[in-house]
Amino acid sequence: MVAECTTSQLLKRVAEIYDWLDSQIRRSAHPPVQCDACGKCCDFTRFDHRLFVTPPELMYLKANLGGENLKPMPTGLCPYNTDGKCAVYDYRFSGCRIFSCKSDPDSQSTLTESTLKKLKSLCTEFHIPYHYADLPTALNTPTNP
Ligand code: SF4
Ligand code: SF4
Repeated sequence: MVAECTTSQLLKRVAEIYDWLDSQIRRSAHPPVQCDACGKCCDFTRFDHRLFVTPPELMYLKANLGGENLKPMPTGLCPYNTDGKCAVYDYRFSGCRIFSCKSDPDSQSTLTESTLKKLKSLCTEFHIPYHYADLPTALNTPTNP
């Protein structure tokens, strides 16, 4: 467990990674990626899709939930999808930001690799064990961050 002041530094760094990622997505998308925000890809079973997350991302989401714990995920639908909309949009995971059913999978893979490299080195720097777990596993593990 990281100390409180260290945690706030870590959260700030995750926010910086997300800012960097969002700027990369904006810059690389020519023409701009059209997403209908239909929320269908948040139902991983129906969409036949998987989302992998890392500890700093889970810590960042949890820290921004106003004291609530992370929700478990009993079905294939992300528990933060409410009526098709993301209830934690500003704090959503890097995979949620990168994935689009309407853009090039190769550029998504490249961006995923670069983002994971940053998140992994954050774990090393802050002495957090690195895991790359799919969302149900991460949310259903009682010891999640
Ligand atoms: S965090 Fe938001 S965008 Fe990501 S899977 Fe869940 S509902 Fe969808
Ligand atoms: S990426 Fe595709 S499936 Fe996901 S919300 Fe956007 S349009 Fe819907």
